[in-house]
Amino acid sequence: MKLYSQKDVDKKALKGARIAVLGYGSQGRAHALNLSDSGFDVVVGVRKGGLGWKKAKKEGLAVAEPIDAVANADLVAMLVPDMAQKSVYESVEKSLKKGATLLFAHGFNVHFKQIKPRKDLDVSLIAPKGPGDLVRRQYQQGRGVPCLIAVAQDATGKAHAKALAYAHGIGGTRGGVLDTTFAEETETDLFGEQAVLCGGATELVVKGFETLVEAGYQPEVAYYECMHELKLIVDLLHEGGLTKMHEFISETAKYGDLTRGPRVVTDRTKKEMRKILKEVQTGKFARQWIEENASGRKGYDKLLKQDTNRQIEKVGAELRARMPWLNDRRA
Ligand code: NAD
Ligand code: MG
Repeated sequence: MKLYSQKDVDKKALKGARIAVLGYGSQGRAHALNLSDSGFDVVVGVRKGGLGWKKAKKEGLAVAEPIDAVANADLVAMLVPDMAQKSVYESVEKSLKKGATLLFAHGFNVHFKQIKPRKDLDVSLIAPKGPGDLVRRQYQQGRGVPCLIAVAQDATGKAHAKALAYAHGIGGTRGGVLDTTFAEETETDLFGEQAVLCGGATELVVKGFETLVEAGYQPEVAYYECMHELKLIVDLLHEGGLTKMHEFISETAKYGDLTRGPRVVTDRTKKEMRKILKEVQTGKFARQWIEENASGRKGYDKLLKQDTNRQIEKVGAELRARMPWLNDRRA
């Protein structure tokens, strides 16, 4: 394992570099603002007149159409949605400077060969292990979200040093930057969001809520129990792992955890997790997601609607309206 910190950064690697950040969404906004505050010459590449264009301009950044933004850039950060990256890359490829760095925040398109970058480019990955607004907030607080670093193509011999300097510019070296490969980042990231973080955790919450409501308990009580209180547990895990959580929950909660937890998430669940991982590794999931996009996202839109139409969402919206501070991101 190799974990880099501020002292490992070669400050000359990106000295005076012009950085084009394509996309001004979750990651794009955070990277562009952090890099700009770190003293880099940043231009945001977005569609003229679009939301990102207006927002980036209002927040004091230089904006240009993607094709113009990349023209003189030493490093181009590809931060449009994964499914838009292929066409954006194809539209700017000819304008990329020789020997420039093409940098990603997730390895999907390179790993699954949707983008085949020009041979003279450095191709690297700086993947923050957190959402964009946290990348921005922590940077402003003098902290930093840890990042993964990888190089897929090293045309200049300096690809790794440049990527690390970029990670430093967004605050990543404060939290630590860990060496990986495009394959490892892509496969673990997809597996994690599917089985644990987004898919697994939400399904657990919803099924727990439904169990209580179907047994006749008040939906509001079930909501507090299964959704609202999850944050307390997640914060403890985030700060100090299982050990810290055990320190803060009651003896009774601990006994219930130890004796009942393994009955909820069983060997069958783990078997299914292995299957999900296989689908990621073989490219089955990637093909399905690319196909879903190519055919107009009908299945995706339907599932998304079902997910947000559940009773837990209606109950939750009413209860959360009483706690406006929940949306104060600085808290
Ligand atoms: P996003 O959906 O928040 O924002 C993308 C932005 O790209 C939009 O706001 C818009 O400005 C622009 N855009 C969209 N379509 C475009 C097009 N066709 N042409 C030009 N610009 C377009 O995206 P995101 O979640 O920040 O994801 C960007 C990259 O970061 C992805 O590779 C993603 O996997 C990765 N990533 C995201 C997170 C996260 O927390 N969201 C975390 C780690 C890595
Ligand atoms: Mg879900």
